[in-house]
Amino acid sequence: MTPSTPLPDSDRPTLSVVTPMLNEEATIDAFFVRLCPILDSTGLTWEIVCVDDGSTDRTLEVLRTRHAQDPRIRIISLSRNFGLEGALTAGFHHAQGRGVIPIDADLQDPPELIPQLIAAWREGAVVVHAVRADRASDSWFKRTTANTFYGVLRKLGNIDLLANSANYRLIDRQALDVINALPEHDRFFRGLAAWVGFRQTRIYYTREARVGGKSKFNFCRMWNYSLDGITGFSTIPLRFWGYVGVIISLLSLLYAVYTLIYTLFTDATVPGWASLMVVMLFLGGIQLISLGVLGEYIGRLYQESKNRPLYVVKEKIGFAHDHSDTASQSRDT
Ligand code: UDP
Ligand code: MG
Repeated sequence: MTPSTPLPDSDRPTLSVVTPMLNEEATIDAFFVRLCPILDSTGLTWEIVCVDDGSTDRTLEVLRTRHAQDPRIRIISLSRNFGLEGALTAGFHHAQGRGVIPIDADLQDPPELIPQLIAAWREGAVVVHAVRADRASDSWFKRTTANTFYGVLRKLGNIDLLANSANYRLIDRQALDVINALPEHDRFFRGLAAWVGFRQTRIYYTREARVGGKSKFNFCRMWNYSLDGITGFSTIPLRFWGYVGVIISLLSLLYAVYTLIYTLFTDATVPGWASLMVVMLFLGGIQLISLGVLGEYIGRLYQESKNRPLYVVKEKIGFAHDHSDTASQSRDT
């Protein structure tokens, strides 16, 4: 199901590192300088699959130079910015390793952890999550919003999503093949990595600050990303409004009984429009919210039904089994 034809087992590297990159010219050099010696020290064969996610700076140029120096650094250049999940998916579809490690380009995921990830993998774990021991390197705002998000998702999503784990982990071919073959477009890799099951384990680390450049996730992007995560793993928000409806109907029934008794047994006139307005506005608000929630899911159904590819490849550099047909550019189902 993955677009690239798998290499014969003997030609596969043991390890693939997958790195999505959007305008990371400021960090690339430092990234390879730190990562490559660590990969060498593992004694395993490796490749680094860099996905240029429509960068507008010199990212691709720098990557080309790096590839010329070391052909194990391979490049997939996307035709435009497809977002972190699109770029990750492209990388996963092209990674050939038996173990695959997605890692950010900004060195916030310390490569020094890789030997520990590999050790846990050797002990039989199929997914080794790298979990942040603390969020000290984040701003207060990011920390709070992230904690809220993971709390909500854990309650709603019914999956043991690891709070404080980003995309950094080691995932074995067995589990990655399952994720690669999933037909859905709305991908939320950190959720899928927990969802896929098998033997999972975790390793703790301290996340560092970015070495250069700046974060690509502003509040709007984080918000949208969180919605993808929640709607991708839970339908409880849909059901929730049904319950709200039931509760409100019951309350209004009680209120109707009260009004009836009040009018029948007292000669006071029914109090005026204030209470009426409050109820109307309240119900109107609730209806709009629930419509909005419906809209979120219907919008996603629409996206899924169009079945558009998750990413479009502009150029591949350094892949032995290159395909330039359109099938290779899409998530083929
Ligand atoms: N990234 C990407 N496409 C995007 C946004 C981000 O490939 O549309 C990459 C980015 O280059 C980095 C990784 O995803 O390697 C994580 O992004 P970032 O460091 O900006 O996120 P943060 O750490 O602030 O959550
Ligand atoms: Mg970062």
